[in-house]
Amino acid sequence: MFPVSSADSAGPLPAFAADRPSNDPIFAIHGEAVRRAQAGESIIDASLGALVEDDGRLAVMPTVFEAFRGVDPARAAAYAPIEGDRPFREAVIHDVFGDGPLSPCATAVATAGGTGALHHAVVNFLERGQALYTTSWHWTPYGVIAEHTGRRVETFSMFTADGRFDLAAFEDGLVALVKAQGRALVILNFPCHNPTGYTLDDFEWKSVVEILRRSAAHGPVTLCVDMAYARYAPPGSERWVESIEPLLGEVTVLAAWSASKSFAQYGARVGALIAVVQDDGMRAKVQSALSYSCRGTWSNCNHLGIIAVESLLSDPELRAHSDRDRARLLRLLADRVDAFNTEAAKAELLHPRYESGFFVSVFTPDPARTAASCAADGVFVVPLQGAVRVALCSTSRDQVPRLVASLAKGVAAAS
Ligand code: PLP
Repeated sequence: MFPVSSADSAGPLPAFAADRPSNDPIFAIHGEAVRRAQAGESIIDASLGALVEDDGRLAVMPTVFEAFRGVDPARAAAYAPIEGDRPFREAVIHDVFGDGPLSPCATAVATAGGTGALHHAVVNFLERGQALYTTSWHWTPYGVIAEHTGRRVETFSMFTADGRFDLAAFEDGLVALVKAQGRALVILNFPCHNPTGYTLDDFEWKSVVEILRRSAAHGPVTLCVDMAYARYAPPGSERWVESIEPLLGEVTVLAAWSASKSFAQYGARVGALIAVVQDDGMRAKVQSALSYSCRGTWSNCNHLGIIAVESLLSDPELRAHSDRDRARLLRLLADRVDAFNTEAAKAELLHPRYESGFFVSVFTPDPARTAASCAADGVFVVPLQGAVRVALCSTSRDQVPRLVASLAKGVAAAS
C-alpha cells in the first residue's frame, strides 16, 4: 500500500488536469438542438461541422464504401507501419502537390485525421512554451492541442475594416513572434476557412508567401496549411499550391491532409502530415521526428482506412467514381452557399466573402445574445468572439431563408 500524502487529497488528477472542460461546446449546442427536435419542435441545427443531405441524413460517398469493401481482410487486420504504408503516403503527397516541384521534396506520415496531423506539427515544430501563430478566428481545437502539449496560441487580427485578409497585421505579428521565440509555426486553414468561410485569393496567397519569406530572415519559419476543407475549394482557388512553390528552401511547408471531409469519412480517422523540406538530410530528420510522434501517440493508424483511401487516390476508376460522388456533394453545398449569399445580402447581414465551404460567420456585436435569440427561434448557431458560426453544411437549401431571418433578428437584438 502506498501512503496517501496530503498533496493527494485533491484526488488522483494533478492540478493541470483537474479542471479540464469536458465536452466540446459545439457538441453541447448540438445536443440541445437534438433534444428539442426530439421533443417535436421544428429545429434548424446549424452547429455541427458535417455535411448532411437536405433530409438531415449524413451525406456519404458510396464509392468510399466500395473501396473499404475491396480491402483484403488479412491486410486490413494487420498493423499498419508506424508511419503509414508507403503507397498511401506517396498517394497523399501526389494528391496535394501532383507533379509540381514540391513533390520530390515531400515526405509524409499517416495520422489520425487532420487533428493528428496538426498535433504532430505543433509538437515537432515548436518548443514547449512557444506559440503557434494563426488567424484571430480559428478552429478552437488548435488551442486545445497547443495547451495539451505545453504550447500556446498567438493570433493576428484576421480582417481589415473592408473585410479583406489583414496582410499587415499578419506580417507585424509574425515578425514579432519570430524575433521573440526564434522560430514560428504558422497555421493557415485555407481554402474554406473554419469558421469564417473565407478563402484567400491569388493576390493574398502571393502576399502571404512574400511575408513568410521576409519573416524567415529572422529565424526558421514553418507554414502548416490545414487542408481540412480543401476539396470544397471554390473553382480556381486550388492554385494556392502553385502560389506557395517559392517557399521551397526558405520556409518549411507542412500540409495537414484529411480524409474526413474530402471523402465524407469523418469516422475513419485517416489523415497525413506532409512536410516539404528541400535538404535531403533535414527531410530524413523530419521524417524520423514525425514517425517518433506516431509511436508516441497512436502507434499505428487505422489500416483498413489507409488502404481504402490509398486505393481511392490511386486507382483511376475508384478515383473517377469518388470524384463524381464528391461533385454531387459540392453541388449540394453550393446551392446552400448561393442561397445564403442572396438572402444575407437582402437582410444586410455582415459576413466575410463566402464562396464555398462548410461554414460562414456572421458578425455581431454580442454573439451570445445573437445565438440565444436564434436558439429561441429553434435555430442553433455557435457564438464566437465578434460573430456567430453558421454551419451551412448541416442546413438544407430550403431552411436558408428562415435561418437568415433568425440571424438578422438575432443581430438586431444584439445591436
Ligand atoms: N481543421 C479544421 C479547421 C477542422 O474544422 C477540422 C475538423 O472539423 C480539422 C482540422 C480536423 O478534422 P479531422 O481530424 O476529422 O480530419
